[in-house]
Amino acid sequence: MIQLAPKNLCTGCGACAFVCGKNCIVMKENEVGIVYPELEMSNCVQCERCQKVCPIIENVDSRKSLTAYAAWSSNENERATSASGGIASEIYKMAIANGYLAAGAVINNDFYVSMQLTDSMEDVGLFKNSKYVFSSAIELYPKLRILLKEAKKAVIIGLPCQIAAIRKLFKDNENLLLIDVVCHGTTPYSYLKQHIAMLEKKYGEVAKRMSFRDPSLYTYTFTFTLYNADNKRFYAQRTKDGDTYQFGYHRMVSYRENCYYCKFAKSERISDVTLSDYKGLGTMAPCTFSAQKVSSVLINTDRGKTFIESLIATGKIKAEERPVDEPVQGDEQLRRPSTKSKYRLYFERDIQVFRGNFEIAIQKAQNQYIHDEKIKKMISYPKRIVRKLLKVIHI
Ligand SMILES: Cc1cc2nc3c(=O)[nH]c(=O)nc-3n(C[C@H](O)[C@H](O)[C@H](O)COP(=O)(O)OP(=O)(O)OC[C@H]3O[C@@H](n4cnc5c(N)ncnc54)[C@H](O)[C@@H]3O)c2cc1C
Ligand code: SF4
Ligand code: SF4
Ligand code: SF4
Repeated sequence: MIQLAPKNLCTGCGACAFVCGKNCIVMKENEVGIVYPELEMSNCVQCERCQKVCPIIENVDSRKSLTAYAAWSSNENERATSASGGIASEIYKMAIANGYLAAGAVINNDFYVSMQLTDSMEDVGLFKNSKYVFSSAIELYPKLRILLKEAKKAVIIGLPCQIAAIRKLFKDNENLLLIDVVCHGTTPYSYLKQHIAMLEKKYGEVAKRMSFRDPSLYTYTFTFTLYNADNKRFYAQRTKDGDTYQFGYHRMVSYRENCYYCKFAKSERISDVTLSDYKGLGTMAPCTFSAQKVSSVLINTDRGKTFIESLIATGKIKAEERPVDEPVQGDEQLRRPSTKSKYRLYFERDIQVFRGNFEIAIQKAQNQYIHDEKIKKMISYPKRIVRKLLKVIHI
């Protein structure tokens, strides 16, 4: 009997659906809008290929990083418009200039995110910046199969679970340079759609463009924005301003269930290179520059080392070698998956009770969070007063 990965662990990577020659598997949204493979056994020939390529059922070997860099683009505009140091864009540009194809996450007019492939410098801007939502990799696999048959090269920057699926499908092909971004989770697309629809109704506008970390308000403020057809911004809120989507995302409440058990959230990496926002910069060795808009670049293989060293040699990025353990200790996601808070547990219950209605379920979790924070502040108030008084007396 063929069994795919259990629902609570399945990443929705779609490798099983791609590899099944009998079309027994389709990727579909379930009753609360989460994408899973659906297996129809009537044509199944028990070949087990779907199980062998599954990065959850089968092991994907990983290794400790060889080197760590703190790095950023020498081009200030690239840096300002990217999530952290703008390293991803510089990698793509060097790759395309050297005959590689490039793959990354693109958001379409419906705000659906999928992994796309290009050989054009002009498309690099589409890959830029973090899209905090589930992204589909299934359209990418057939394109990779064709390019590898033609002995072409590609650089792919994506989520660790997507990179793991690509490794299972294409067996560590030497023409692929695989780069993952450190990831704490992704939210189902249906939640994002509902959130945007709610805001469109509230503001009487139609959203044509959005950002999860709007560069015009500095990406490090993590501001969620919506723009209308005249490119006028009609919505801009952060987690602390009360945006429910950002609350769900940044408080680790609304991810796919599998993200809380992510087997790729560890210091041993499955990619050639790992990118992240540098956290903990200067904690293990002296550092003379600010950590703002600086990426951590972990080199995990010789292939990754050769590519990144050539990029540094061009002067397109600035890079300083750091202790490998520094970014690992600085970022929890490089050691373990996101943990479930009690707000996640409320959300899990309510998203079922309200049949996939994201806004109701997340609003209830957020209300509880705000209430708890108020109580915490009230309890700590006398302590804070005493501390202040002691400070004054001491002076
Ligand atoms: C969902 C998600 C969670 C993240 N969580 C963390 C974290 O916990 N800690 C941390 O330090 N860094 C995290 N990052 C990585 C970080 O935000 C930056 O993407 C990374 O530091 C590279 O920054 P950059 O400036 O070089 O390039 P950017 O231009 O910001 O990076 C863009 C690259 O990210 C890829 N990408 C963006 N969204 C998606 C998506 N939905 N699916 C697949 N690929 C995508 C694009 O393909 C592109 O190659 C996360 C990124 C994402 C997408
Ligand atoms: S065992 Fe083979 S035929 Fe059956 S679902 Fe899996 S890949 Fe398809
Ligand atoms: S291959 Fe991917 S989509 Fe299929 S069962 Fe495994 S994790 Fe889920
Ligand atoms: S947390 Fe893990 S499983 Fe979830 S999207 Fe990120 S890499 Fe994939």
